[in-house]
Amino acid sequence: MGARDTVIEEHAARLQACMYQYSRAIYRSIRDLIDPYVAPELHLEYRRAVLEQCEQTMERLARDPLYFAKPDRALFQDIRRYFPITAQAEVAWAVREGVAAAVTFIEEQIEAGALDGGVARCRATTRKGKPCQRTPLPDRDYCPSHQHLEASTKVAA
Ligand SMILES: [Zn+2]
Repeated sequence: MGARDTVIEEHAARLQACMYQYSRAIYRSIRDLIDPYVAPELHLEYRRAVLEQCEQTMERLARDPLYFAKPDRALFQDIRRYFPITAQAEVAWAVREGVAAAVTFIEEQIEAGALDGGVARCRATTRKGKPCQRTPLPDRDYCPSHQHLEASTKVAA
């Protein structure tokens, strides 16, 4: 149990480091658009908040890549208040581009099977014939939606 946890942790740390690069890239692309007409100390606070939201979005994406719907829209909703109306379209575009790059990276990792080495996956096959990507229940081989399969294999064996 302990060794497997360590593998998962190491893998997560590597992925986190990659995602950190993406969150910095998004932040760099929009930080100069942050509302310039607020008091300096508030401006600093805005920048910190925007950076934090970028990081949180990337962290969540790394943890739950297949079940985080519309991460670009989620991030934009969280940070749009820190930007003037005139910059909203540009911020939305930059966020969309930056998050898309991160999502592509994660999808490549999944396709290459890089995530299978560390992260445990449900052993079921989906209706489309692809392996289920969800996380199994603790100490089980199947995720919550496929847990009924566990009982049937045991009966068959
Ligand atoms: Zn499953």
